[in-house]
Amino acid sequence: MPPRKPLAQVAVPLGLRRVFSYRVPPALHDVLRIGHRVRVPFGPRRAYGYVVGFTTEVPDAKLRAITAIEPQEVVFTPEILRLTRWVADYYLTPWGQALEAALPPWVRHGGALVPRRAPRGGGGAPAGGAAVGGDGGGGDGSGGVGACGGFDTASIACVADGGLGAVSIAGGAGAELPLVLQAEQVVAAAAVAEALATRRFTSLLLLGVTGSGKTEVYLDAAQRVVAEGGGVLFLVPEIAMGTQILSRVLRRFGGKAGLYHSQTGDAERRRVWNEARTGRLPVVVGTRSAVFVPVPDLRLVVVDEEHESAYKQDDTPRYHGRDTAVMRARMENAVIVLGSATPSLESLYNVEAGKYRLLRLRERIDARPHARVTLVDLNEARGGDPPERGRPRSMKLPAPVLSPPLLRAIQERIDRGEQSILFLNRRGHSTIVQCSACGEALNCEQCDVVMTFHKPDGVIRCHYCSASRHVPAACPSCRGERFLYNGVGTQKVEEMLVSAFPTARLARLDLDAVRKRGAHGRVISAMEQGEVDILLGTQMVAKGFHFPRVTLVGVLQADREMLQPDFRAGERAFQILTQVAGRSGRSETAGEVVFQSLMPGHPVIAAAVIGDYAGFASRELELRRTLGYPPFRRMTDILVDGKDADHVRRRAEALCDLLTPHEGVEILGPAPMPHARLKGRYRWHLTLRGRSVAKLHAAALAALEAPAPAGLSGTRLMVDVDPVGMS
Ligand code: ADP
Ligand code: ZN
Repeated sequence: MPPRKPLAQVAVPLGLRRVFSYRVPPALHDVLRIGHRVRVPFGPRRAYGYVVGFTTEVPDAKLRAITAIEPQEVVFTPEILRLTRWVADYYLTPWGQALEAALPPWVRHGGALVPRRAPRGGGGAPAGGAAVGGDGGGGDGSGGVGACGGFDTASIACVADGGLGAVSIAGGAGAELPLVLQAEQVVAAAAVAEALATRRFTSLLLLGVTGSGKTEVYLDAAQRVVAEGGGVLFLVPEIAMGTQILSRVLRRFGGKAGLYHSQTGDAERRRVWNEARTGRLPVVVGTRSAVFVPVPDLRLVVVDEEHESAYKQDDTPRYHGRDTAVMRARMENAVIVLGSATPSLESLYNVEAGKYRLLRLRERIDARPHARVTLVDLNEARGGDPPERGRPRSMKLPAPVLSPPLLRAIQERIDRGEQSILFLNRRGHSTIVQCSACGEALNCEQCDVVMTFHKPDGVIRCHYCSASRHVPAACPSCRGERFLYNGVGTQKVEEMLVSAFPTARLARLDLDAVRKRGAHGRVISAMEQGEVDILLGTQMVAKGFHFPRVTLVGVLQADREMLQPDFRAGERAFQILTQVAGRSGRSETAGEVVFQSLMPGHPVIAAAVIGDYAGFASRELELRRTLGYPPFRRMTDILVDGKDADHVRRRAEALCDLLTPHEGVEILGPAPMPHARLKGRYRWHLTLRGRSVAKLHAAALAALEAPAPAGLSGTRLMVDVDPVGMS
C-alpha cells in the first residue's frame, strides 16, 4: 500500500492566527514545496496562502484541496519562512500576514517570480522589463518548479530606477576605490572583521559622531564579505534620506549591489530580488522591507541610522525593521552593525546589558572640528515688554521666526558664497487658521486635527487624511468673517526669506515641494553645484546630507520635538538636533549652528548644544528607569477604533476589565489617543507595560481573541508591540 499522501499546511493572510490543512491534488503531488504560494478555497471564497509545512494529521473538519500554485516557483526560502514566523509570533500577527509583508510585490500583482529568461547566448538583453503576468496559473504545476537556479541571464545592465535621479549605475562598471581608513576607523573596522571571521552571530553598535566616517567602516566590512563570496544586507531608514549614501554604496560595489525599495518599479525590484537570491548581487541596499530579501549566505547586515523610527512599520504587521534585522542576523549566524551618532536608548541599553558590543568613532574625519553652536533665546529676542505677573503668555509679542543673530549669520554666508540650511519641521504656510472674533480654529471634518493653510493651493489641508477645502466665508461657531493665519510653516518662512534676502537663491525641501517627480534629486544636485544659497525644509534637510559648502545650519524651533506627548520626545529632539547640526561644516571651512529656542535651559537642548550624547543618554536612561519606560520595561499598545465614539470607549473599557487580572501586566489607560479621531474613526488605546515579554504577549493575545462585547462589533482592535510613537 502506498504511503498516505501528506496534507499541506497553509498560512492564509486573513485575520486568523493558525494554519490550515489542505489536500494536495494528484497533479501537484510531485511539485508542491514548502514556500510555494497557492490558491485555496477559504470558506465561501478563494484566497492565496503560503505552504509552510506538511502533515499527516487529518483534522476533523472537512478537507478541501489546493487549487493551484501561483507563481510556479517557490517564493519563500526556509530562512525567510522562519523569519516571518518570528515576526508573526513576536508582533502578534497571523503568519500569513507576515508572509505578505515579505512577499515580492510583483507576485501579488500577478507577476511571475522570475524575469523571463533571455534567449541563450542572446548577448544580455535586459530582462528587467520582462512581461508581467506571463504564465497565469494553470494549476497543474508542471514544469518550472525547482527553477530557482535556472534564470541565468548573464550581465544584465544595472540601472537603478530613475525616480531617484541621483542613483544610476552601469552594471559591471569599474567600482570606486575605497578610501584609506583613518585611525579610529581602522580600529572599528578591525573589530567588525574579527566578528566576521568567527562566522557567528554578533551585534555591534557603531556610535560615531556625525562626519566620523561610519559609512566607510560599513563599506570596508561589506567588501571583506563580498571578497569571500558572502552576502550583505544594507538597510537605510528612508530612501529620501539615504540618496547620497546609497549612491556611495552602489558606486563602491559597481554591478555587485542592487537597490530594493518601494519606489523602484516592479521590474527593477524583481531583477534585484532574483539576482540577490542567486548570489549574483551580493549586496542589497534597501529600506525596511529589504530585510526579507533572500540573500544567500548572509554574513553581514548593516542598519544605518538605527535610531530612526521610520524602521517601524505603522501598519500590520507592525514590525521594527531594525529588530527584525537583528533577529535575521541571529538566525543566519551573521554579524550585524547598527550605526548612529545618536543610538536609540534601547540599543545603548543592550550594550550595557552585554548583548551588543560598542564601537566608537569620537572624531570627525581629518579631525575636523564640530560646528560651533549658538543658542538664541527667543524669549529675549521677542523684545517688547518683559513678562509681567498675571499677564497671559499670548499677550507677549510673538517670538521672531528669524532672530537677528540668525539673519546676520545668513547674510554672512551669502556674502562669502557659502550655503545655509534652515530647518523647521512644519510644512505648509500657516499651521492654524483662527477666527479673529472667537479664536476658534478650523479643524478637519474627519479628524481631530487643525488644518494647515497651503498658500500656493489657496486651501486648508489636513495633514492626516489630506482632505482640503477653502477657508469658509464665516466662522462656523460665531459667524465672524475675519480669520487670522497664525503659526509658521516652511512656506511662510520662504516668504520671509524672500523679503529679507531678495537676491538670494532659495530652495525648499518638504513633502509638498517634492511631489513632482525628480524634484528631490534636482534640489540635491543644485545644492551640490552651489546653485542654492539657502536650503529651507522639514526633516528632509536634517538628516544624512553631505554638502561641503554648507557652513550654517539654523534650527528655527529647537523645542518643537520636545513638545510631543510621548515619553520619547526628548530622545527625538536630541537626535534631530544632533543630526541637523551635523550638516554644517563638513569640509575645510568651519561650520556654525544656530538653535532658536524658547526653553534654552532645557537639559536636552543644553546637551545638544555641546554635542553631549553620553550625558544626554545617561540622564534620559535614569529618567526612564525611574518612570518605568522602555528599555527598562516593555510596552504593547492596544488600539481600538470605530465610527461610534461611545462604542469605541466602551470596547476600550471592556478590554481594560478583561486584562486587569493579568499578573505582571500593568495597564495605562484606557484613554483617547492624542488625535482622538482620524479619518472619521474615533480612537482609544490602552498601553500594557511590564518586564516580561511573554506576559505582555499573553495579555495582548487574550485581547485579540476575546470576541467584541455585544453591540460593539463595529469597533476594530489593533495591537502594536514595542510601539515607537503615538499620534
Ligand atoms: P558619517 O556617516 O559618520 O556622518 P560619512 O561616512 O558620511 O560620515 O563620512 C563623512 C565624510 O568623510 C565623507 O565625505 C567621506 O567621504 C569622508 N571620509 C570618510 N572616511 C574617510 C577617510 N578614511 N579618508 C578620507 N575621507 C573620508
Ligand atoms: Zn483629516
